[in-house]
Amino acid sequence: RRSGTIHRLANALAFLKNVFGYAAFRGQQAEVVDHVIAGGDALVLMPTGGGKSLCYQVPALARQQAGHGTAIVVSPLIALMHDQVGALLEAGVQAAFLNSSLSMEEANAVERRLARGELTLLYAAPERVTTPRFLSLLDNLHREGRLSLFAIDEAHCVSQWGHDFRPEYRALALLHTRYAGVPRIALTATADGVTREDIVAHLQLERARQFVSSFDRPNIRYTIAEKKDPTLQLLRFIEGEHQGESGIVYCQSRKRVEEIAAILCREGLDALPYHAGLDAEVRQRHQDRFLREDGVVMTATIAFGMGIDKPDVRFVAHLDLPKNIEGYYQETGRAGRDGLPSDAWMAYGLQDVVNQRRMIDESPAAEEFKQVQRGKLDALLALAEATDCRRVRLLAYFGEASGPCGNCDNCLHPPAVWDGTEAARMLLSTIYRVKQASDLNFGAGHVMDILRGKETEKVLQFAHQRLSTFGIGAQFSEQQLRGVLRQLIATGALAVDASAFNTLHLTTGSRAVLKGEQQVLLRESVGQPAGRTKTRQR
Ligand code: ADP
Ligand code: ZN
Repeated sequence: RRSGTIHRLANALAFLKNVFGYAAFRGQQAEVVDHVIAGGDALVLMPTGGGKSLCYQVPALARQQAGHGTAIVVSPLIALMHDQVGALLEAGVQAAFLNSSLSMEEANAVERRLARGELTLLYAAPERVTTPRFLSLLDNLHREGRLSLFAIDEAHCVSQWGHDFRPEYRALALLHTRYAGVPRIALTATADGVTREDIVAHLQLERARQFVSSFDRPNIRYTIAEKKDPTLQLLRFIEGEHQGESGIVYCQSRKRVEEIAAILCREGLDALPYHAGLDAEVRQRHQDRFLREDGVVMTATIAFGMGIDKPDVRFVAHLDLPKNIEGYYQETGRAGRDGLPSDAWMAYGLQDVVNQRRMIDESPAAEEFKQVQRGKLDALLALAEATDCRRVRLLAYFGEASGPCGNCDNCLHPPAVWDGTEAARMLLSTIYRVKQASDLNFGAGHVMDILRGKETEKVLQFAHQRLSTFGIGAQFSEQQLRGVLRQLIATGALAVDASAFNTLHLTTGSRAVLKGEQQVLLRESVGQPAGRTKTRQR
């Protein structure tokens, strides 16, 4: 067995060098490649950029050489298929793809090449693989022993809990029953426990060996700052730590992207916008400049980044909250692929929480799916509110235990923590009383005015100065109360109705806080809240 392994690895290494031009396998690649060449099933969990493609490309070459025929690669993204096939062709590997971008004639031509055994790898969209027509092609190949392996890329798509559920993936289970004996390798960069179990169950990979790489990116420093004046904070961050370096700034909307790019340019930075609303030609030009030149700051929606492989991105900044931890990890993971120190920086505030919750509430998705999204958002909010090590939290989400990292904001500058439990109870009981007194719900500003004892016009209009909680929270600053509200909303102890002027509503989760059963710990804000004027000191 051992000599078999040595022989297989020497052979695999020759392909790695001669075809791909790399000197050595990385991380767990060698183990995976050896296992698959030997005909075993594998589930590979490797972070983005870890080098998953070679885990099936090298076995495809080796197994074809041994007379096993063609590898079928199931991939959900047309753009990635094009990139991969393009790179393989350049390396002299016979590869092709089948997806909706091909005309009928083109697709027929590819199928003929497959039947003739001319291909080492065929990439195909999942919905294509399970058509009767394609299956009968595979049946023929299988009968003659000319199917070398199945690679199922982005395998988390099979799971409802994955961030990218695709029902077509479920049908791929038939590959196991129909083509028994052909090794299967499923790959993903999303590995939380539930998703992993789902992949194993739905793709019938119970007997597959699991290769789990660490998701830690030790050279990335994580920082999540409280959002005060985000543009100014971003400028300070870039100018203070990354002057003249390449980076990506993510914003939620196209409009924001344009605004921020313009501001960065005005401040002398080499910033370019990128979003799906720009012409394809403009997007390509901006992407090329980012890839080729040093010091370009790409200001973008999440439309930017898939398949981008630039090693020296020194920072990724988020001006708005991503959808979930998977997104955050994937986007920040584009920093520091070369292993050198890099920053993942995010500004986060109350409005982010409100916006993300509203986007989920207002989406046309099924309630069941919304529930999953809400759970994922909550996990991200917990990361943002955390006062302990960010990396420990991030890795724990992916099922990995670790100790304090010494390279995140909370480790480097442990935040002073204050106990906001009393303030939280005051806020919740004010919301309760206001509702009782006038059967109306109000927004954060008004509730804080009551608590701090401000006799505003609105307070007087509703006679809220007569409430028993009026003025009892005068010792708290507005900023402190905002922090408490944010955390109450983040943890679900308070709800915001975005369709009714962002009014606040008690939830079932409010009870535990009101009864003093749940502590509310908050980070002490450092410095003064930034004012509205955008004067900057140099
Ligand atoms: P993933 O699919 O896991 O995100 P890729 O397969 O796209 O990662 O690989 C990411 C980058 O790392 C690619 O540019 C790839 O060529 C490079 N790479 C992968 N394995 C090696 C290796 N053993 N040596 C050098 N570069 C590698
Ligand atoms: Zn840390």
